[in-house]
Amino acid sequence: MELDVRTLMVVFTVNTFAVALALPAIMGWRVGPAARQAVLSMLLQAGGWFFLVLSTFWRGQWQDQVCSVLAMAGMSTSLVLLWQSMGLWTGWPQRHWPMWLLTVLMTLGYGLGFDHYPWRVGLANGVLGLQMLVIVRSVSRHSPETSWRWRALIGLCMGATATVTFSRGILGAFFTASYPFLTAPHPVNKVAALVSNLSLVLTTVAILLAYREEAERQLQAQAITDGLTDLLNRRAWTERAEILLADAQRYGYPLVAVMLDIDHFKRINDERGHAKGDQALQLFARLLREELRTGDLAGRYGGEEFCVLLTHTREGQALSLDQRLRHCLRLQSAQELDFPLEYSAGLAAMGQQDQTLDSLLRRADEALYEAKHAGRGQVVLAPRETTKAPA
Ligand code: GH3
Ligand code: MG
Ligand code: MG
Repeated sequence: MELDVRTLMVVFTVNTFAVALALPAIMGWRVGPAARQAVLSMLLQAGGWFFLVLSTFWRGQWQDQVCSVLAMAGMSTSLVLLWQSMGLWTGWPQRHWPMWLLTVLMTLGYGLGFDHYPWRVGLANGVLGLQMLVIVRSVSRHSPETSWRWRALIGLCMGATATVTFSRGILGAFFTASYPFLTAPHPVNKVAALVSNLSLVLTTVAILLAYREEAERQLQAQAITDGLTDLLNRRAWTERAEILLADAQRYGYPLVAVMLDIDHFKRINDERGHAKGDQALQLFARLLREELRTGDLAGRYGGEEFCVLLTHTREGQALSLDQRLRHCLRLQSAQELDFPLEYSAGLAAMGQQDQTLDSLLRRADEALYEAKHAGRGQVVLAPRETTKAPA
């Protein structure tokens, strides 16, 4: 069986184009930046290989030089985009300019030194191989949010492609006689073409896996957050609150639950419209988030009612949080809403009788009810211990 390098390259180019068009068709057009860059990377890779194949028809002529330079620019840019998409998916920060600079310098060096075959083949393959290794590095870092499976697949593909790319570079630069042109039937060249095809298939699978994982992550986040305020929704808040309460009971640290309810909210909706009401809820949620410490837990309990669990906190500290929040709300609502927004709050510190979250919240809710009845715009502290009826 004779493997023709140019035929393999044509097959690879056609397949890459097919993948670059199929991916957005499968994933839809409204994907995140990581998926978008991965697709763009495929498209540029296909373009790069297209020009590379084209260049082989004009070996040694000026068209060869133009096509080859375009090919190198396309391939190298494609690798930078793939690397950037890996950064977005894994969540590792990247400094972009060195990779882009490498692409520009390589393309320039390649174009200017085109007549010197060993130089340009060594340079291009060296830089492309290096960029592939940077991708391997980016997917091999620990990333708890992402699955190691697709990262390993990308790492494997890029590692293998880097190996054959470096081999090509070494052949071209130092053993030019055995590798005098791009489609030379050298065994390394044949293996390289096969590896490229294989890598394309597996990289496509990995990109689809990464995309699916991102979509799942987004769905999970949506399932626990309230769409309007971005706070935890009631179910998610309750789940986490149960854990915090159990922890506080086990390790004996103080914990306070606060129920907060915006005053006369129905009137705001009726008099100023639902959109203003929504804006008021968003402002309230934002201020609540800003005033809380890390480790505290805030959620939208329903409608215009919010709940907060303050860990390692006693009543006095909780009361000062209430004062701060009231102060900020007074200032900000006047600035952002053009009308004053007030709330009532019920506050309950965890005690012996609070074996369950329900019990703690019931006490906070009773205190909130009292605050409403006492005229609103204030906080009421639930009595610490309920007196038990004698047996
Ligand atoms: P109180 O001072 O006794 O708490 O009176 P209130 O008007 O705040 O309480 P009530 O429970 O009578 O009304 C709550 C209103 O909140 C009724 C409901 O239409 C409105 N509401 C619930 N969810 C939303 C929302 O997401 N957006 C808007 N704009 N309004 C909402
Ligand atoms: Mg209300
Ligand atoms: Mg209410």
